[in-house]
Amino acid sequence: MSPSNRTRRLATALVHGGRDDFAALGVHAPPLDRSTTYPVRDLAAGIASLDAMIAGGQPEGSSIYARAHNPTTARFEQAIAELEGTQAAVAYASGMAAMSAALLASGAAGGGHVVAVRPLYGGSDHLLASGVLGTEVTWAPADGIAAAVREDTALVILETPSNPMLDLVDLAQVVADAGQVPVLVDNTFATPVLQRPAELGVTWVLHSATKWLGGHGDVLAGVIACDEPRAAPLRQVRIGLGAVLDPQAAWLLHRSLPTLALRVEASQATATELATRLATHPTVTRVFHPSRPGADPAGLIGRQMRGPGGVLALEVTGGLEAAAAVMSAVRLLTPAVSLGSTDTLIEHPAGLTHRVVDDDAQAGVGITPGLLRISVGLEDVEDLWEDLEQALKVADAAGR
Ligand SMILES: *Cc1c(COP(=O)(O)O)cnc(C)c1O
Repeated sequence: MSPSNRTRRLATALVHGGRDDFAALGVHAPPLDRSTTYPVRDLAAGIASLDAMIAGGQPEGSSIYARAHNPTTARFEQAIAELEGTQAAVAYASGMAAMSAALLASGAAGGGHVVAVRPLYGGSDHLLASGVLGTEVTWAPADGIAAAVREDTALVILETPSNPMLDLVDLAQVVADAGQVPVLVDNTFATPVLQRPAELGVTWVLHSATKWLGGHGDVLAGVIACDEPRAAPLRQVRIGLGAVLDPQAAWLLHRSLPTLALRVEASQATATELATRLATHPTVTRVFHPSRPGADPAGLIGRQMRGPGGVLALEVTGGLEAAAAVMSAVRLLTPAVSLGSTDTLIEHPAGLTHRVVDDDAQAGVGITPGLLRISVGLEDVEDLWEDLEQALKVADAAGR
């Protein structure tokens, strides 16, 4: 990345990020390079490039082999690094591949200790709780991190806003409480449009790029933004695991970035309006969205986050039966997991995204049988509201 890029404003960086080589290439849109291998005519130069990548760096010339490096993916990574304000970013085949790589690269896997704040995305929670990568986890409340961190703690992991409760956590405070221990923040819900954790001292900024970054429900991907020394082990793990992002997926992600701010801001405005209306609906007991009164006691919106985001949750009266009835009754909303798409998705965390989380842990953070999560898309708010109203009417009958 050229240093001059670092001062570009967000909207400009979204449009122009990762495009530094276009002038030299004489292209206007990103070329899609699907090569699995790259001819090596100068063996000494090839060895030098390979050695640089084996050490965790960028190639010095040839990409050599697609599991080591791909120019299309590298452009997407460069764009993400600029957006997150970090030196580097490393992309993976999915958000969970990125999370696994972070555990491996930080030393948390294979017997290391992690302090984590619930709720986390169900897959992340399960990865830690199951110990499948050999992590030992201490679950702590956000204000209990300092007490939970040990001499041998490899990583602190949290989300803000959290999935699915939309809890906000003060990142500067977490970084202070973690002391020498690196902090990994899953920034999937906020995106760099609303929040840039690295500016607050966070070491690793992770995204399920499947969500807002991809934005159209057609790409599975993950990415981690961090400084260059932290990127080296991430790349080494990626080469070893082989969990690389397909270049076609990287190309689609890069294509989605110029509209990211427009999409996030439009979804956020509609989510805020829906949260307001749902809060007084008789079939709804609680609404979770950072815009709601009392949802941001530390005043993080405006200070840490530029807005409340496009995901909300609600709890319906009538528990599981009523929630299931909403899932069946919606006609415009899509009853499906995932989030950050152009269309509005509604899902049941206890039954789907967070099914793998311990029952006690679910209850502890407020994932009740009546909880539904909505990722607001780009539809007209009135059409969404009409659909929700008719679905809640069905739910009201089902819950009695
Ligand atoms: C979906 C999600 C993940 C996992 O990402 P995949 O791309 O599905 O592997 C991780 N964190 C959060 C917050 C998510 O919403």
